[in-house]
Amino acid sequence: MHRHNIAVIGTGYVGLTAGACLASLGHRVVCADVDAAKVAELARGRVRILEEGLPELVRAGLDSGRLRFVVGAAEAVRGARTVFVCVGTPTGPDGRADLTAVDAVVEEIRPHLEPGSVLVTKSTVPVGTAARVTAALDRADIGVVSNPEFLREGTSVRDFLNPDRVVVGSDQAWAAAQVAELYAGVDAPVMISDAASAELVKYAANCFLAVKLSYVNTLAELCEQVGADIDRVTAALGRDHRIGSAFLRPGPGWGGSCLPKDTRALLSTADSVGVDFPLVRAAVDTNAHQQARLAAKVARLCGTGGPAPLRGVRIGLLGLTFKAGTDDLRDSPALALAAELARQGAELTAHDPAVPATGPGAVPLDGITVVDDPYRTAEGAHGLVLCTEWPHFRDLDWPRMAAALHRPVVVDTRNHLDAATLSAAGLAWHGTGLSPVE
Ligand code: NAD
Repeated sequence: MHRHNIAVIGTGYVGLTAGACLASLGHRVVCADVDAAKVAELARGRVRILEEGLPELVRAGLDSGRLRFVVGAAEAVRGARTVFVCVGTPTGPDGRADLTAVDAVVEEIRPHLEPGSVLVTKSTVPVGTAARVTAALDRADIGVVSNPEFLREGTSVRDFLNPDRVVVGSDQAWAAAQVAELYAGVDAPVMISDAASAELVKYAANCFLAVKLSYVNTLAELCEQVGADIDRVTAALGRDHRIGSAFLRPGPGWGGSCLPKDTRALLSTADSVGVDFPLVRAAVDTNAHQQARLAAKVARLCGTGGPAPLRGVRIGLLGLTFKAGTDDLRDSPALALAAELARQGAELTAHDPAVPATGPGAVPLDGITVVDDPYRTAEGAHGLVLCTEWPHFRDLDWPRMAAALHRPVVVDTRNHLDAATLSAAGLAWHGTGLSPVE
């Protein structure tokens, strides 16, 4: 396998994973970020984000000398044959992907790129970005490639090294071939395409997943009304190989750093070319409905009745991140639900193993008191709401929880807890998509 000199711009979930994994495959990698404090920590082998196996891989890369960290993109691209751009592409004011960070990187590295090198967008970017980058570079000697990333937070290293597929899209065959070569050590089909198709496939995948989740959440609502059990329905549904069992569990609504922004961005792309995409719009609307429905359910089960049932009522939240295994709070449905409960006057105490109450990693969350001890969420509370499926929540001392609660109510948005254990502890467990809802 050829060893390449690679630059990775942006050391977030995607960039740091890509950099450390590419170094583990034998390449020489320089990672850059604008955040000097983050770079200094990474250079000492300290990884701030929660990703299984990533700290070990970063330390191994540093020890081997194949992985380095620098401040500033220009510094990183000197001598690099391939430059991966992995900066954020959040939602802009009009719903479109905001390409400010991508544009800034292109502008910064343009005069420093080696002749014959390839610029790869790994950030999720809308169709047309490769053409936009090509125009901004204005250098015929540089290749432009789209190589969307499909890793999931929490399992990013495993997903990067064992993906279902690698997509490499370019309108320059030589540039696509150069990038495809980097993945020689990865056991997955490398699918070469044109740039626009590669850019679209990432949005196509994420929007499909959002549609699937919204579909299940509405099915769960239907189950509650007709006397069916969503877990039985999805268990049988998922055995159909045309459907598959992944992303087929009900929950508090989908969220995280990708699905909300990518659904908005695809709708915006479709709109800009006059294509109506009602299916994706319905998935977004269903998600908002799901969160409102859940807040109403909490108010009904934990509230005091009357016109403002949650005013002054204490509610405990188990989990804040958008899923277990990550520390990412961006667009978490737990926070959306918390915001709505707080708006209705509830006093919220929350625990999440990845969200510290104090110290360097603590982030202030509006209207929520974060505690390091899960049992404190129950103290004097009118109910507990499970938002994130951290495995150890199942094994909490539930009789102790029951003793601390003011009212013995648990709303489980993900059907994660063991109903029999909670019932034995004297708790009224309310799952999702199970009937009948009283
Ligand atoms: P992130 O916010 O965790 O990281 C982005 C990093 O880029 C930050 O460290 C930031 O300081 C740095 N940065 C910003 N401007 C810079 C500049 N000019 N020069 C150098 N560094 C700069 O973002 P992320 O979650 O890693 O996502 C990055 C991209 O990958 C997004 O487009 C996202 O949609 C996509 N993506 C994310 C995931 C995921 O699960 N997080 C999965 C697949 C794709």
